[in-house]
Amino acid sequence: MSPSGSSSPLPSDHEQNERQRPTLAPPARGLDASGVAMREPSLYGSRKASLALDIIVVGCGIGGLSAAFCLTQAGHRVTIIESYPVLGEVGAGIQLTPNSTRLLRRWGLGEHLKENAVRPEGIAYLRYNTGERIGFTRMGESLEREQGAAYYHMHRADLHKLLYDLVAPHVTILLGSTVTGCDPDPISPSVTLESGEVLWADLIVGADGVRSRIQRIVSGEPNPAELTGDAVYRTTIPASLLTRDPELREFIEHPQMTGWAGPGKWMVGYPIVRSYPFQVLTRTS
Ligand SMILES: Cc1cc2nc3c(=O)[nH]c(=O)nc-3n(C[C@H](O)[C@H](O)[C@H](O)COP(=O)(O)OP(=O)(O)OC[C@H]3O[C@@H](n4cnc5c(N)ncnc54)[C@H](O)[C@@H]3O)c2cc1C
Repeated sequence: MSPSGSSSPLPSDHEQNERQRPTLAPPARGLDASGVAMREPSLYGSRKASLALDIIVVGCGIGGLSAAFCLTQAGHRVTIIESYPVLGEVGAGIQLTPNSTRLLRRWGLGEHLKENAVRPEGIAYLRYNTGERIGFTRMGESLEREQGAAYYHMHRADLHKLLYDLVAPHVTILLGSTVTGCDPDPISPSVTLESGEVLWADLIVGADGVRSRIQRIVSGEPNPAELTGDAVYRTTIPASLLTRDPELREFIEHPQMTGWAGPGKWMVGYPIVRSYPFQVLTRTS
C-alpha cells in the first residue's frame, strides 16, 4: 500500500516521484555538488526486508533524512513530509562526534567529510579574562585512531545537503506540507496535513525535531522544553577577518574548538567551512 490521501489520492510511486521531486538540479552522476565521487553504499550486507513497507517520515531535517536513508536501504518505500517550503542555507556550525561520523562513513560519505568538514586538533579551555589555557583535550588524528572515526565541525547546511543528495533519489519528498495531526492506529496509521489531506502508510516515523508534534500525539503528553534561565547567542565571523588579525589568526590556522569560561557564562568558537550551494524549492507546479 502506498501512502494515500483521502481528499486527493496520490498517484503511483513512480508518478509521484516524477511529479513531486523538488526542483534541485541533480549532481552529475556519481559526483556530489563539489565533484567528490559518491560511493553507492551497501547497507545491511545488501539484504532487503522480506516485506517492503510504505513509510511516512515526518520532518526532512538531519534525523528524518538519516532515518529515510536507512529505511530505503532495507527495501522500504519512504515519503518524507516537511513543513518548510524550501530547504536551504539555514543554521551555522554543527559538531559531529565519532559515533555519528562512523555512520556517515558507512553510508559512503567519508570522503565528503574529509574534503569539506574541519577536523579540529582538540578542545582548548581558556580563562575568559586572561586567555590563560586551563585545559586541552587532544582530538585530531589520535581521536580518529582511537575511535575509528573522526570528530568534525561542519556547516549544518552542508550536512543537510549531503544527506539530501544521498536520500533524494530514493524517496518522495513533500515540501511545504505541515503535519497537523497523526492517528497512531496500529492497523492503519495516518497523518493529516494542514491542507486537510490525510495520508496513510504502514509505519509513521516522527523526525519533526525538538518540538515534535508526533511525539506529543503518540505519548499523549506535552513535552515542552523547560526554561533554564540561560540564553544562547550565535554568530558567524568571516575567516578573512580573523586571518588579518595577528592575535586571532591562530584560531583559523590551527583549527580547534575553543571555550572561554567565565562566571555563569561560557563562550565557544570553532571554524567551519561552507562548501555547497543548497536550495531545494517546494514541489514543482
Ligand atoms: C532550520 C534549522 C537550523 C538549525 N541550525 C543548527 C545549527 O546551526 N547548529 C546546530 O548544532 N543545530 C542546528 N539545528 C538543530 C539540529 O539540526 C537538530 O537539533 C539535530 O540535527 C537533530 O535533528 P532532527 O532531525 O531531530 O531535527 P531538525 O533538524 O530540527 O529537523 C526537524 C524537521 O522537522 C520539520 N518539522 C517540524 N514539525 C513538522 C511538522 N509538523 N510537519 C512537517 N515537518 C515538520 C522541521 O521543519 C525540520 O525540518 C537546526 C535545526 C533547524 C530545523
